Amino acid sequence: MTSISLYGGAGEVGGNKILIEDKETKVFLDFGTSFAKIKKFYKDPFYSPRGLLDRLIMGILPNLEGVYNPAMLKRMGKKPHEEPAINACILSHSHLDHFGDLVFVDPKIPVYCSRETYCAIKAYEDITKSSEERQWTYYQESKKVDEWIPLGYYWIDEFGKAHKTTKENATHERVIIQFEIPAEEIRRNFVQKSKSKIDNLEIELFPVDHSSFDAQALIVYTSDAKIAYTGDIRFHGFKTEESIKFVEKAKNADILLTEGTKINEEVSFTEYDVEEETKGIVKNTKGLVLIDFSLKNLEELLMYKRIAEETGREFVTSPKNALFLLYRDIRNLVKEKFSNFPSKILVFEKNISTRSKRNITKYKEIEVVEDEKIRKNPQNYIVNLSFYEFEKLVDFSPPPGSTLIINNPEPFDEESMLDEEKIQNWCNYFGLKNYRIHTSGHLGNSDLLWMVKEIKPKYILPLHSSLENALLIKERFGERVKILREGESFNFKPGLLSFLS
Ligand SMILES: [Zn+2]
Ligand SMILES: [Zn+2]
Repeated sequence: MTSISLYGGAGEVGGNKILIEDKETKVFLDFGTSFAKIKKFYKDPFYSPRGLLDRLIMGILPNLEGVYNPAMLKRMGKKPHEEPAINACILSHSHLDHFGDLVFVDPKIPVYCSRETYCAIKAYEDITKSSEERQWTYYQESKKVDEWIPLGYYWIDEFGKAHKTTKENATHERVIIQFEIPAEEIRRNFVQKSKSKIDNLEIELFPVDHSSFDAQALIVYTSDAKIAYTGDIRFHGFKTEESIKFVEKAKNADILLTEGTKINEEVSFTEYDVEEETKGIVKNTKGLVLIDFSLKNLEELLMYKRIAEETGREFVTSPKNALFLLYRDIRNLVKEKFSNFPSKILVFEKNISTRSKRNITKYKEIEVVEDEKIRKNPQNYIVNLSFYEFEKLVDFSPPPGSTLIINNPEPFDEESMLDEEKIQNWCNYFGLKNYRIHTSGHLGNSDLLWMVKEIKPKYILPLHSSLENALLIKERFGERVKILREGESFNFKPGLLSFLS
């Protein structure tokens, strides 16, 4: 019997955590961060849950045995397990709502994903390296600061113990006693293959079209079921053919796990439309062109490069983005996949940490464009600038008639509404014309209807979708749609009626 349970992604967009059980074998498909659950109580990035304990108590992470990092459990005063209860985590792609909570998972549990996904996670980790909560490919316990005796004046008693004192009474100056031994770094085992066998299960990954270049859909064969999982998917980008290939392979699946983010809408605006419309606006702009988009969408990066070339401009991005693009394996991978990958990457000036600065000078491909150059010849550039870098507008001082193109989803909650208001204020202040030219990273209504008609699954389990959208899916396809609540299981036995338990 095959059993499927959702521990995240049920009635919410993202935070996917799908447990598949077949006899003794247990795997998770994705182990993403639920931003909806975090936002219920906290306000990122300044006010976030403290580690595993807060997340378990506040219901942000499910209470599961044998899944979490034993070192973290120990620190919480909980008895850790000897051996993990899970055979593997399989990741669909490198968006945080699909892999983010891996940092809390027992590092002994192997992770399966595409080479692209591993590289993107590794690059992101290295570029933003900081706390324990950003260690996806390894685990290293953080330093115990309280075991340090700070600098100062001391006298040492007969037992050899140091006591802080004034300069006059000191027998020792600046005694530094450091008990800290750097913690051992435990590497996670990432298996980067498109086809794997995990105990009873066979798993195959298929690249698909989505707003992250590394997105994969999955087919899992258990001992009695064929399960197709869309991950995040769409059919209106530059890689639509690959999504269609997955649908071919998924035909006659017993169970289809499908995302439903946007299925309450028709998505007819394609990436080709984004390109045409953007090009038209750039052609008609006399001043500077600014574009805000997500770099994970590498196909779009190349699209903007193309538009720049065709309109006689140069494409300039942030130093951080350039570091991501040139990061070890990403660079090779991108070169392999995209023959038109730029040999030179232009970046704008930005005060960044010395570590990154050293990194930047290391790459011969990176060329820094001075602010003055952009200020004097705005008509020569398209600058890739995210909202969090808008302070650069002061340095660029774009002349009237300059343009901001936003390639991000419409604001959908209170927080993004507030951001939107700020963006408008910046635009008004600098006299920027602004446009939103965006197409969703997710499939719309007609494509869902088509996909289900092609695959002909016996059962459909909606996830990565609001409850309303899950109900819409049920309305479309009737009894074969099972809407799972969080923690609820769907059991499948071929030839028998399946049931919820
Ligand atoms: Zn997602
Ligand atoms: Zn995604």
